[in-house]
Amino acid sequence: MTGGFITDASLAGLARWLRLLGYNTVVYPGAAGRPMLCRAAREGRIVLTRRRDLPDRQFSGRVELVPEQDVGRQLHHVVAGLALEISPQRMFSICLSCNCTLTPVGREEVRDRVPAYVFETCGSYNRCDCCGKIFWQGTHVLRALQFLENQNIKIK
Ligand SMILES: [Zn+2]
Repeated sequence: MTGGFITDASLAGLARWLRLLGYNTVVYPGAAGRPMLCRAAREGRIVLTRRRDLPDRQFSGRVELVPEQDVGRQLHHVVAGLALEISPQRMFSICLSCNCTLTPVGREEVRDRVPAYVFETCGSYNRCDCCGKIFWQGTHVLRALQFLENQNIKIK
């Protein structure tokens, strides 16, 4: 595999979905251009962009044009076009907000940090190494799986 992805700022929604699927994805904060390509080359990332004029002859890495407006179609485009592996082992392993790895934490460690009804019903938790946010298996997971199914994205 690669060093993950880098997207331009207009694809921030797509970036969250790629993180949810377990793919390290940076959103480049500035305008899409040569500095973004330099960072992609340095970090071995595939470039995802909506800018048709971005592909650069001097850039040796891969640039994938994502013309779709709708985030579901964008995701389908990337998953199908790059033949991404979608597996339960990869999913929900990266923080959706900051792209850092999640680490499993014990139930007692999160007692004061999650809603009481969650603490009562859920036994396993992950914490983001960067922002400290706690994630657990909840309704958002079911919604995410439904979204993927609606895009005809198969989990293997
Ligand atoms: Zn985080």
